[in-house]
Amino acid sequence: QAKSAGRNAVCFFDQGMQQTVDERAQLESSLREAIARNQLELHYQVQVNHAGMPVGAEALLRWHHPERGSIPPVQFIPLAEKGELIILLGNWVLETACRQLKEWSRHPASAELTLAVNISPRQFHQADFVQQVVETIARTGANPARLKLEITESMLLDHASITISKMEALKSRGIGFALDDFGTGYSSLAYLKRLPLDQLKIDRGFVCGLQQAGHDAAIVRTILALAETLDMAVIAEGVETIEQQELLASMGCHNYQGYFFGRPLPPEKFVQHHLLAEFA
Ligand code: C2E
Ligand code: MG
Ligand code: MG
Ligand code: MG
Repeated sequence: QAKSAGRNAVCFFDQGMQQTVDERAQLESSLREAIARNQLELHYQVQVNHAGMPVGAEALLRWHHPERGSIPPVQFIPLAEKGELIILLGNWVLETACRQLKEWSRHPASAELTLAVNISPRQFHQADFVQQVVETIARTGANPARLKLEITESMLLDHASITISKMEALKSRGIGFALDDFGTGYSSLAYLKRLPLDQLKIDRGFVCGLQQAGHDAAIVRTILALAETLDMAVIAEGVETIEQQELLASMGCHNYQGYFFGRPLPPEKFVQHHLLAEFA
């Protein structure tokens, strides 16, 4: 495959491969170019409430490569995370998402939506992360109360007190936090209690296994009970069928994201598909 890809030989797309310094440098320059040439785009996946009404969206990064077509984030984000490039990418994502929020604020149909943005550990652990977020919000005029940052358990392991103080600093400005892929990491319950989180996102792996024999239903119930104890909201990821939604609802989970409600869509399509129909 890499052979047919032409000169910019894109061997770095093979995840299983040991990356050489050279290949990483090549990815880096390709991605820098992608930013400069507007090949990156955020798609938006709807998040709905118990009634199926849109309440928010998650921004998901897409790369339209001139030769390879659309490259999914799993094929370049993990590599970008190994170096400084993730900072550049992360800042682009944040800026683009905040501009989208500002844009949505102008129309009644979208003004109340929250927007969730994925933050990589390396980006979060930058010394000036809080400042970056605050400045981006000021520059774009986005409402911080509509912005939600998605972090993962893995980033919480080190530097607990710094992590918490950064979260507190952003929270004091109205920004929310969701814990992504919850249940797949290693956060201790004692630690979880100390974090100023607004929402747990039940990992789609558990949703997927809900109807099968096994422990997934019990795990989901446990997460819901935990969220209630800690006074956090919950959203289930990867809801693909009405059966899954009904099962989740019967367990007390009332916010959903997944293909059943909508795939990630470019901004114009997101508005057309999820907002205009509701308010027409
Ligand atoms: P995530 O944050 O957990 O995002 C959810 C992923 O699940 C997305 O994949 C989404 O398209 C997919 N998904 C949503 N509903 C369903 C469903 O019903 N069934 C199935 N099978 N999948 C569903 P995507 O867009 O490929 O992103 C993968 C991961 O890449 C994300 O997982 C996130 O960790 C990372 N990512 C995406 N965009 C960004 C970004 O802007 N910055 C950073 N740091 N990471 C990002
Ligand atoms: Mg996410
Ligand atoms: Mg997730
Ligand atoms: Mg995930």
